Amino acid sequence: MVVKPNWVAPRAADTGVTTDLRLVEEVIVQLKKRSAKVLIAESSGYEFDPKKTNRILKVDNFAKRYKIPIINTRSCQTKTVDIEGKILKKIRLPREVLEADLVFNLPKLKTHMLTDVSLALKNFFGLIPLKERRRAHVFGLDQAIVDLASYFTDRTFVIVDGMTAMVGTGPVFGNVLRSNVLIASGNCLAADLACCRMAKIDFKKITHLRLAYEQRGNEKLQIIGDKEFKIKNFELPKFPMLYRLGYRSVFALEEFLRPFLKGSLVAEVVTRFGARPEIVKDKARGGMRRKLINICPVGAITKDLKIDFEKCRRVRCLRCYDKFPRAVKLKGISKPKR
Ligand code: SF4
Repeated sequence: MVVKPNWVAPRAADTGVTTDLRLVEEVIVQLKKRSAKVLIAESSGYEFDPKKTNRILKVDNFAKRYKIPIINTRSCQTKTVDIEGKILKKIRLPREVLEADLVFNLPKLKTHMLTDVSLALKNFFGLIPLKERRRAHVFGLDQAIVDLASYFTDRTFVIVDGMTAMVGTGPVFGNVLRSNVLIASGNCLAADLACCRMAKIDFKKITHLRLAYEQRGNEKLQIIGDKEFKIKNFELPKFPMLYRLGYRSVFALEEFLRPFLKGSLVAEVVTRFGARPEIVKDKARGGMRRKLINICPVGAITKDLKIDFEKCRRVRCLRCYDKFPRAVKLKGISKPKR
């Protein structure tokens, strides 16, 4: 069995970014009780350091405790499979994922600047290597999401972690919403449509959900459980078109310049212009100085309260900003409100 959470960035579950470890733990405990062989397949997003992400989220300790391997989907061994999609004809996937009987898909309930929402269908994207992710961003992200998710249709079970959600400029630097819900289904599209219905969002305005719905023959959705439950105040990203155009152009440029580049152009641009902290020195006095320095998990805050950009940029956990709201402000195009 493969468990696929969303650990895209080193920001804790209560910030609305990542799948809650308590949910992952419960799934693993239940699978182990049934003597299943379990592994976790995931890696951080493009612009985040996967090792630091796992350490900061305490995922490494967790995996050791349960003696479960974590497959880093960005660098593991893969095998090419035909998936006969409209955009993705063939795709490389981790061997272990291909051999698994079932993929437990554990996405976070959140928004996404490029795809409006990031739920069960989108969560499979974390399984493919960076090269394919980059290409999909250039050639048609929404259809690529549908193609990839279709491949897993018959062997997946999903539980959407909506205990805490993210709204606005997700998937990493949007606003937190306490939504207190878990949505489970043997059908990823049904889970996504149920999230939309509860959040009062017209799923037909979300391209990848509309495409998947049309492709599946307009199946009827039935919600079992608390049918009246509503996710209040769920807001999609505002004005995402400009952002999408910019993002796609940078991905296209990276694809074109690939042979000449040492690192990722996308990561370079996103970390330079995305959310990043700055300390307001005269608001950080006395004992707070030491606390601020100590809170940074990668030692990026110096004694004279400057932030070492190179140490912070691939992490940007915003712990300093979350814990010391008066002493730290944020720069960049997408910033969470407190
Ligand atoms: S400086 Fe702040 S945002 Fe950057 S890594 Fe340290 S705690 Fe996280």
